[in-house]
Amino acid sequence: MKWCCTSFQSTYERAGHRGLGIVVHEDSGVFSFRFQSRTVHIGKEKNVTSSDNVTFSLVSESGLQFCPWCGQSLKKFFKNEIEKLYRPGFGLSDKIQAVVKKDDQEW
Ligand SMILES: [Zn+2]
Repeated sequence: MKWCCTSFQSTYERAGHRGLGIVVHEDSGVFSFRFQSRTVHIGKEKNVTSSDNVTFSLVSESGLQFCPWCGQSLKKFFKNEIEKLYRPGFGLSDKIQAVVKKDDQEW
């Protein structure tokens, strides 16, 4: 895999760990990059408990069109490779999205 820069590669490789990562999202055969922030490691979401007075998101994502470090257009640079970077289960699952939507309604 050819990367636009080492910072993008290392952040992509960190996906699934607590903190920031980069994931590929797939929707009806269309792939796109997203910044992802995780409160806990992937698979540990069920271990998180909360009081009723605190609302938070375990995982949040934001779309990326350009590399935040080198400025490369991700759509152009990864045009023929983005499908290879897709990792099912790393993006927001339907179950987690339901939690986020519930949280959003509380605000
Ligand atoms: Zn880059």
